[in-house]
Amino acid sequence: MEYKGVLVFIEQRNKEVQKVSLELLGKGRELADKLGVDLTAAVLGYDIENISDELIHYGADKVVIVDDKRLKYYITEPYTKALKKVIDNEMPEIVLIGATSIGRDIGPRVSARIHTGLTADCTSLDIDEENKNLLMTRPAFGGNIMATIVCPEHRPQMATVRPGVMQKIQKDINRVGNIEFFDVNLSDNDVNVEILEIVKEEKKKINIEDAKVLISGGRGIGNKENISILKELSNELKGEVSGSRAVVDEGWIKKDRQVGQTGKTVRPDLYFACGISGAIQHIAGMEDSEFIVAINKNKEAPIFEVADLGIVGDLKKVIPALVEEIRVSKL
Ligand code: FAD
Repeated sequence: MEYKGVLVFIEQRNKEVQKVSLELLGKGRELADKLGVDLTAAVLGYDIENISDELIHYGADKVVIVDDKRLKYYITEPYTKALKKVIDNEMPEIVLIGATSIGRDIGPRVSARIHTGLTADCTSLDIDEENKNLLMTRPAFGGNIMATIVCPEHRPQMATVRPGVMQKIQKDINRVGNIEFFDVNLSDNDVNVEILEIVKEEKKKINIEDAKVLISGGRGIGNKENISILKELSNELKGEVSGSRAVVDEGWIKKDRQVGQTGKTVRPDLYFACGISGAIQHIAGMEDSEFIVAINKNKEAPIFEVADLGIVGDLKKVIPALVEEIRVSKL
């Protein structure tokens, strides 16, 4: 039997499909259409049949459900075993996994067990028109080059993609597809970890990937106190504050607000880069924003190359003036 089709590993938590999985279904749909094959969504969990319709509405032709009480919560070993069995059974030519903490755990384990390669943190995926191989592109050498990686000798071709990089397709409630249950014959011996308690972190969770407006600060803001300048603007525009790695390293903002290659990939309607030079690793995380405003006192700063609107000036003067203008316009 030959390897055929595209398979997306669907990450669900408490029966809720994670955003990245819907984004991967969008990309998977495009790849499957280019190859003229089916798109399968593989979902593991317990009592999860209800989520299959959503997966079909977002592009899947087929949903394979592995329903087992031992899969209620993510545990490395039973999940790895189950996904491997699904792949052995389905024999897809492409497997896509979200580069979340779960995806980064299960992806390499499964790829090792099925003796194939895995390209992590891809930023673009396409099909080679000539030989139909998957072209997996990701930053390499500290982000200084973009490398396109192929896996011509082994199947399936596996890739992980970070949340926010791909786009989900328009939900279509009229789409139809097949739903199949697959028994992987797990036993209690496969569960080598016992979950005693799940403790949710209390802090207010902000997800800069969901913000429509981001006010991002770089080293140019000068010190931690000046974050308040960014906050004033973000309050006026109902946005969130984010930043470059430099400000995270300085301890001026938290790591979960970092934009870029080793932070989050964001795509807001409006992105302000304030005192950010525009290093390739930063740009990789924000260049797909709808409208980019850069404020920098150095007119040669590379950030201006990706900006839709560039303001050369001192952010400590420009931002308060902007806030004042917005306030006046609201009167
Ligand atoms: P700088 O490069 O120091 O730039 C500061 C800018 O502020 C300058 O352009 C300056 O002209 C301007 N400025 C100064 N004062 C003012 C003022 N008063 N008003 C207006 N402008 C002013 N970086 C990320 O951001 N995200 C990542 O995920 C990331 N991942 C990385 C991964 C790797 C493997 C590596 C090697 C690096 C990574 N980096 C990342 C770091 C990246 O290379 C840069 O060092 C970093 O983005 C620089 O941050 P910055 O622009 O805030 O600071």
